[in-house]
Amino acid sequence: MVTLGALLLVGFSVFLILHPVISGKEAPLESAGEDPSDAQFRKRVSLLQLRDAEYEYAMGKLGEEDYQALRKEISAEALAAIRAELAETRESVGPAYESESADLEQEIARVRARLKGGTFCSECGHPNDAGSRFCSQCGSPLQSPRTSSAP
Ligand SMILES: [Zn+2]
Repeated sequence: MVTLGALLLVGFSVFLILHPVISGKEAPLESAGEDPSDAQFRKRVSLLQLRDAEYEYAMGKLGEEDYQALRKEISAEALAAIRAELAETRESVGPAYESESADLEQEIARVRARLKGGTFCSECGHPNDAGSRFCSQCGSPLQSPRTSSAP
């Protein structure tokens, strides 16, 4: 599975890129000081892949159909991992699963809004606020995410 390995790698680098954005609000992906369980790890990886797909889609690298298919696939894995995680912890019962999956949707929506509203630097990947013309990180001129006109 070469593609999966590549996905993980890309997902991880996107995670590094997005990390400042995410950690500012709440960081369910980062449980510092704890060894992630297998399920937690799977969930984390799925979320990273999901962000990666969102990112690629927003950058215009991924077509609508590919994106939808990928998103569906990864979401299924993420939800399976969340279920497994809940089964592992056993502390939260009942509606916890619902709220977890709602969290996931919220998280996707949040990342998506950020991707749509703001502009990711094509040079360094830094997320800049909407309307920025230059990257606040490296100073490169920014393009809007959906216009893929090469320089
Ligand atoms: Zn930059």
